Amino acid sequence: MTDDPLPPLRDVIALHGLSPRKALGQNFLLDLNLTRAIARRAGDLTQTDVLEVGPGPGGLTRALLAEGARKVVAVERDARCLPALAEISAAYPGRLDVIEGDALKVDLSGHLSTPYRIIANLPYNVGTELLVRWLTPDNWPPEWSSLTLMFQREVAERIVAAPGSKAYGRLSILGQWRVESKIVMELNPQAFTPPPKVHSAVVQLERRDTPRYPADPAKLERVVSAAFGQRRKMLRQSLKGVMPDVETVLTGLGIAPTRRAETLTLEEFCAIARAI
Ligand code: SAM
Repeated sequence: MTDDPLPPLRDVIALHGLSPRKALGQNFLLDLNLTRAIARRAGDLTQTDVLEVGPGPGGLTRALLAEGARKVVAVERDARCLPALAEISAAYPGRLDVIEGDALKVDLSGHLSTPYRIIANLPYNVGTELLVRWLTPDNWPPEWSSLTLMFQREVAERIVAAPGSKAYGRLSILGQWRVESKIVMELNPQAFTPPPKVHSAVVQLERRDTPRYPADPAKLERVVSAAFGQRRKMLRQSLKGVMPDVETVLTGLGIAPTRRAETLTLEEFCAIARAI
């Protein structure tokens, strides 16, 4: 992998007047050793394109390119960052495409060869929404092969949570049914400029070609949101709207109707979805 040929990020930020804006979730990573360590957690980048959301001044973007990413497509909403990103493009000719826009709205078709990896220090205000979209595409397998994403630690814990824990919920089912998820790095607030109020963690999600247990995605989603929508209620109550004969179905599956959502395993959720 190569040395980074560009000036220190503090100089880039000063030169382009990139004072961080809270409304855009701007907590920048300025230590290139750290961004390169995150890039390496994503695996070999040399054979794949990478989608990055929110490159900001480009600390992670530079790391992805120096670690050999074939091509990076970076979607940034803050136009102030574009001149800094143009300098990175110039240093890595033909390997960085910057798209100015809202990652929740841009059309990326034609920009990336599939399967690509998604690697991002996400703006916390849109991170969960993007993750849910990436985990619930119309077709499976999706266009991406892996997601390497920074979240606030509490969200990361929800993704990897096991039954019985407080963090276990809809995000855990999404994060474990068709993907292998693990926390690969934890970061203190001081790693960022400015430091956020919360701790952060990087989650690595590798897609599985087939789900861990069979189920129709829409039915599973109905069961999971109904069950966790009233997580303190017993299943015979919380799943009433999902199927009329809920007690009979649950008993037939060997699941006591008096149990609550947070005790159900992924396998049991899938079995209920198949019984609808
Ligand atoms: N990647 C940089 C880093 O690690 O230092 C910046 C990360 S910062 C947490 C999040 C970035 O996402 C900011 O640059 C912000 O402007 C950008 N952003 C916020 N909302 C966005 C959106 N809806 N679409 C695209 N980028 C967005």
